[in-house]
Amino acid sequence: ENFQELDLIEPLQRAIAAENYESPSEIQAQAIPSILEGRDLLGCAQTGTGKTAAFSLPMLHILSESQNTKGRRVPRGLILSPTRELAAQICSSIETYGKFLSLRSTVIYGGVSERPQIRDLKKGVDIIVATPGRFLDLMSRGFIDLNAIEFFILDEADRMLDMGFINDIRKIINKLPKKRQNLLFSATLPSSIVQLANQMLRNPVTVEV
Ligand code: AMP
Repeated sequence: ENFQELDLIEPLQRAIAAENYESPSEIQAQAIPSILEGRDLLGCAQTGTGKTAAFSLPMLHILSESQNTKGRRVPRGLILSPTRELAAQICSSIETYGKFLSLRSTVIYGGVSERPQIRDLKKGVDIIVATPGRFLDLMSRGFIDLNAIEFFILDEADRMLDMGFINDIRKIINKLPKKRQNLLFSATLPSSIVQLANQMLRNPVTVEV
């Protein structure tokens, strides 16, 4: 299979070509068509399988296709990740894949000064990649407008639960608009993840690699 068959918009195909990716990985080939159709998805995949591109490419496609280029940018995509290293890596991948688009992304995590993060949020972003603690903190202080979130992605969900983030995650989910597309990625599927998936996903496609 090749990337052309996935029908991603041309600026994404160009970015993929610039990365010298020859063909979609298994998780990409399986997940991208369903995500482009607007389906919720439960993805069972480890790091190294190409799962970041599996969720980032179709999210960028959908957000770019319906981008309102007039008016202020409001967050439309939210990705939660367990660690700051991973969050930074996801944000950097999104910037790489989106380099021929005009979407803006930012990363939010704890352990560093919040000021530059608040400044970026005030400038306006389309996509936020975050760890739950700092995100919840800035959210409860009114720095993050969640009313336009249409894409919600939990990455490495099993690690997030192991790290004790379940209550933070629930608080964040409760503030999201009801109408949205949800993706949940996890390396393992213990009953706690199945339970979270049942609460968070609506009629999901399941993909396992
Ligand atoms: P991930 O599993 O998302 O952490 O990705 C693992 C690595 O695979 C990253 O360094 C990506 O740049 C790379 N990668 C992702 N998709 C592809 C692809 N289709 N072809 C070649 N490399 C890829």
